[in-house]
Amino acid sequence: MTQEIFTDMLKRINAIVREHIIPLEPLLLTQQWTELFSQLDQLRTEVKAQDLWAPNLPASVGGLNLSTMRLAQIAEVSGQSPLGHYCFGCQAPDAGNAELLHMYANDFIKSSFLLPLAKGDIRSCFAMTEPHTAGSNPTMLDTTAELIDDHWVINGRKWFTTAADGANFTIVMAVTDPEAHRHQRASMIIVPLDNSGYRNLRNIPVMGHSGSGYFSHSEVEFVNCKVPANHLIGERGQGFKMAQQRLGPGRIQHCMRWIGIAKRCFNLMCQHVKQRQITPTSTLADQAVIQSKIAESFAAMNASRALVMETAQIVDEQGFEAAKHHISMIKFESANMLQSVVDNALQSMGALGMTDDSIVAFFYREERAARIYDGPDEVHKISLAKSLLKSKTINF
Ligand SMILES: Cc1cc2nc3c(=O)[nH]c(=O)nc-3n(C[C@H](O)[C@H](O)[C@H](O)COP(=O)(O)OP(=O)(O)OC[C@H]3O[C@@H](n4cnc5c(N)ncnc54)[C@H](O)[C@@H]3O)c2cc1C
Repeated sequence: MTQEIFTDMLKRINAIVREHIIPLEPLLLTQQWTELFSQLDQLRTEVKAQDLWAPNLPASVGGLNLSTMRLAQIAEVSGQSPLGHYCFGCQAPDAGNAELLHMYANDFIKSSFLLPLAKGDIRSCFAMTEPHTAGSNPTMLDTTAELIDDHWVINGRKWFTTAADGANFTIVMAVTDPEAHRHQRASMIIVPLDNSGYRNLRNIPVMGHSGSGYFSHSEVEFVNCKVPANHLIGERGQGFKMAQQRLGPGRIQHCMRWIGIAKRCFNLMCQHVKQRQITPTSTLADQAVIQSKIAESFAAMNASRALVMETAQIVDEQGFEAAKHHISMIKFESANMLQSVVDNALQSMGALGMTDDSIVAFFYREERAARIYDGPDEVHKISLAKSLLKSKTINF
């Protein structure tokens, strides 16, 4: 695809976000889920008609097969709204699951689960984190899967399984080889969610909001949950290796989505302060402290964007392994940029910023988790610092 065609594609995506997706946000903010999902489905049909569907997936499953740098730019533009990635078929956790299945799954899984997922006919989730073990060190997870009479029998409890409510299947990470090296104990197995051994216990309230359907995080349980042996993804004992490969591209797309969110909040902040009269002759925008917030937010967004795009370029030119430390760096750097820009916007908007009359409060509430999921800040900082300290050249 030429740069000209790609630029036109980005423009069309931006137009759909601005003209069709953002106007649906009041349905999200007032929890009118049924109406919201039916309207999003209509938009997905339009997105497919315009050949903008699934930019992250290979052409063999109906995707656009774009480079990491191009995907990142799409993630930014479509990320301006919490509904954007869903409308373009590149939403977490389905995007990462589909990429994983494409790389590792057998033909049965590909035809039964990957193809309908890639088309957007079904949804999926990813169940790794457990309430009672530290998610930041997943080698400690204790959900088990035993191979008995050609079936996996799974037992355990997971939580923060995003979008489990209404999903068709989950990928569950379970210990299949307890005696193996700690990085080779776990495997990934597909569980259709109409299985009688699976239960969705609750949608977990996150800062007071339990959500519904795609916009939810569940606590789920597997009790003697039986699935055929061919539901194993990739090789037995390779769960952690595959999880790392699943998270790598996802982190870049999250970071660029956060930049899209930050820009949206930044624009709302600028619009608000320019029109908010604080004396008969001046607005908030005339105040030096507000100008400072605007300048700092702008610099932070641009710095994050440059780092993320540099990371995407390393991935495209040298592969994910070469970009490993950059990915750790952008994960915590962009998440903190996001938190600071959204907070600046909310503060500048005063009481309005706390309400659901604007999207800023939604982002403030929902995206605090950016510093926790896919590896908390601390874990990425430790990993980056260790690699820098190991380096023989001190001259970075
Ligand atoms: C909104 C949201 C969506 C999520 N979606 C999913 C999903 O779809 N599927 C899934 O499996 N999981 C999901 N998770 C779970 C997420 O991956 C975990 O929360 C994350 O890995 C951290 O694990 P934990 O919560 O158990 O924190 P813990 O491991 O208990 O850590 C708690 C805190 O301790 C600090 N910390 C951790 N390790 C270190 C260290 N080595 N040194 C110093 N400080 C440290 C960090 O600040 C961390 O936040 C989601 C979480 C959230 C909040």
